[in-house]
Amino acid sequence: MTDNGTSLNPFDTAKQQVDIVADLLTLDSGVRKVLKRPMRELTVNFPVRMDDGSVEAYTGYRVQYNMARGPSKGGIRFHPAVTLDEVRALAAWMTWKCAVVNIPYGGAKGGVVCDPTKMSKREIERLTRRYTSGIAIIIGPEVDIPAPDVNTDSQTMAWIVDTYSQQRGYSVPGVATGKPISLGGSEGRAEATGRGCAYVIREAAKDLGLRVKGSTLAVQGFGNVGCAAANILYDEQGTKVVALSDVFGGIYNPDGMNPHAVEAHRIRTGSVVGFPGARPITNAELLELKVDLLVPAALEHQITEKNADRIQAKIVGEGANGPTVPTADRILFEKGIMVLPDVLANAGGVTVSYFEWAQNVQSYYWPLSEVNARLEQVMVRSYREVARVAQERKVHQRTAAYVLAIQRVVEAMRVRGIYP
Ligand code: NAD
Repeated sequence: MTDNGTSLNPFDTAKQQVDIVADLLTLDSGVRKVLKRPMRELTVNFPVRMDDGSVEAYTGYRVQYNMARGPSKGGIRFHPAVTLDEVRALAAWMTWKCAVVNIPYGGAKGGVVCDPTKMSKREIERLTRRYTSGIAIIIGPEVDIPAPDVNTDSQTMAWIVDTYSQQRGYSVPGVATGKPISLGGSEGRAEATGRGCAYVIREAAKDLGLRVKGSTLAVQGFGNVGCAAANILYDEQGTKVVALSDVFGGIYNPDGMNPHAVEAHRIRTGSVVGFPGARPITNAELLELKVDLLVPAALEHQITEKNADRIQAKIVGEGANGPTVPTADRILFEKGIMVLPDVLANAGGVTVSYFEWAQNVQSYYWPLSEVNARLEQVMVRSYREVARVAQERKVHQRTAAYVLAIQRVVEAMRVRGIYP
């Protein structure tokens, strides 16, 4: 079920996306079939002892979609609405995202059907450890590397590393990324997604002849991704931050706001709402503001055929996963709005996850300046490659990113050949 009540099966969407690109690339029908199926899927049903002594039964999944380009990589989600098809779709999207930024990974995803908001921290720890134990037969630093996703965080990753390491008998920090720095996490990982988003927006603005300095920015979802993107565009590009929002509502000040001050207000009060000097607006109004740059960094399905026509931004940088529905994509394209697709615009997170893993396997840690410089290199190169394909094929950037990604996966499959 989507948040707007329609029941789209995300895996059907993921397969349709493959078909569109397979048509464009005139892919062989056998290759097309392979690209629409996950390579390996594991379902684990397992018990967890609750704090009151009772036992609950849980179901979890780990789907490894494609490993042609390297070990698979993807987050773990704890949510009551997790389904196998959702995990399959997310695993497919991870495959394309890693390929767009050309990091040597395939794609995977995991999920446990549970409601962590109704569980104690100790219950979540036991659930994480037992789920990890269940999927330990198919994960590992050379096989498949989990990371945080919805309702999981660096603490969850620390429990995964510890559980896996206990089973192996030695410490294996490279089995998961997004870890606390004290356990081999990378400098710069926390803000990497927002930072990567800021870099691709800067590059796109150059192409449009838009000066980022002084250009106006609205961010929906002032969380991990949205806050980092706003801070970095403000600090490093001189962008004027005019609107910000969270689940409680939005704030607008056409004269601009210091996002660090808004962040301090949010930390103090729990929301951006009530920030001095700004007037309240709704999340829907924020999306339709006359701004140069718009970063949807909250939820999926925010820009639809119902509001796409009223979007006025020149560049939309998708910090969130799937904020724009396909029908809206077409409308934005026809209006001449440049949409930087999620698989590119929010790939900074998985890129620094890759750096974290590389540091773990070498046991050699990089300073923040090196992490950020390498991230910038990857994001700028990837943006340029996507922009080139978009121009050559006269398609929007989302299709261009998929073309680039699927070509890379298909090429790796071709040179490997079919075993046996
Ligand atoms: P977060 O929880 O830190 O922040 C989410 C923000 O969105 C919060 O400000 C929250 O209040 C707001 N929000 C939630 N529901 C809302 C609603 N109904 N209307 C308006 N705002 C709402 O999460 P995050 O890590 O910043 O992730 C945001 C998005 O970015 C998600 O789509 C996530 O999948 C995607 N993403 C995150 C990363 C990462 O590294 N964190 C990487 C890639 C993609």
